Amino acid sequence: MLPASLDEAVEALAATPGAVPVAGATDLMEAVNAGRLRPAALIGLGRITELRGWRYEDGGTAVLGAGLTHARMDRPDFAALIPALADAARTAGPPQIRNVGTLGGNIATAAPAGDTLPVLTVLEATATLARAGGTREVPISHLLTGLDPLRPGELLTWVRVPLLHAPQVFLKATGRSGPARASASVALVLDPARRAVRCAVGAVAPVPLRPLEAEAWVAGCIDWDARGEEGAALIDPAAAAAFGEYVAGACIPDGALDGPEGAGALAARLRRTVSVLARRALGRALK
Ligand SMILES: Cc1cc2nc3c(=O)[nH]c(=O)nc-3n(C[C@H](O)[C@H](O)[C@H](O)COP(=O)(O)OP(=O)(O)OC[C@H]3O[C@@H](n4cnc5c(N)ncnc54)[C@H](O)[C@@H]3O)c2cc1C
Repeated sequence: MLPASLDEAVEALAATPGAVPVAGATDLMEAVNAGRLRPAALIGLGRITELRGWRYEDGGTAVLGAGLTHARMDRPDFAALIPALADAARTAGPPQIRNVGTLGGNIATAAPAGDTLPVLTVLEATATLARAGGTREVPISHLLTGLDPLRPGELLTWVRVPLLHAPQVFLKATGRSGPARASASVALVLDPARRAVRCAVGAVAPVPLRPLEAEAWVAGCIDWDARGEEGAALIDPAAAAAFGEYVAGACIPDGALDGPEGAGALAARLRRTVSVLARRALGRALK
């Protein structure tokens, strides 16, 4: 089925039990080929043009269509709007995947290494879920953690992202050079109005992790009043390094290092990687 509008798509989902929506099919075909998914029917979202764009909303929010492709999010106009999301989209697989893979598919799959997920978590984005006869708004973090999951018959339509007009960074480590899935990633935003730092770590756990204590601690180490003054030291380099360690220790606790030989060494390596990513992300945001 290839509905041409949102209304048609939610009606088709309601009318066809076991039907599954499909956007770029990059994740879906992997699941079908591996025998993990046998959909009774497919509802293609490719003709719903309204889902492929984005718009501003009153109150300083960007409303992103679930059908935005990674390639579209990497374009300069979008990168000026939400730079960290553009950075995540730029690294989400090889070009043939980025040309068709979508924001909605990345969220609905909710893979640990989904690149947009730590960014949406740290930006405290929400999702609009539509079904025949109504919609509901859910924080992306609730969707990912299963606190308020996507239900059968629901379509993810829009993602609302509060625009911060403040530095934001996404950094990703992979096990090899060239496009690959993240072994660890860090999204970090500054919120100078509230003198706050928000950070999310991706790929090291089933869902992005927020090291809340480390965020609060490092916010107190930043000289917020020095921002913009040439040559001003916004943070002591030792505090930035300690922030990296703090974040990494919160996400990969000591117990993980005591695992069986291979697992313990892997956890230690991952912890070092997260520490470096968090320190660098903070440094770039404060530049
Ligand atoms: C070779 C390869 C490399 C990859 N590399 C990366 C990478 O580096 N980083 C990364 O993050 N991802 C990567 N991916 C994963 C994938 O490309 C992304 O997750 C992509 O964003 C999925 O989008 P899609 O439109 O193709 O989703 P689809 O495959 O069409 O759908 C995926 C799932 O989401 C559901 N769905 C899709 N749209 C909606 C909607 N609007 N509402 C409700 N449910 C919906 C579908 O039913 C399905 O269950 C890679 C995949 C491949 C095959």
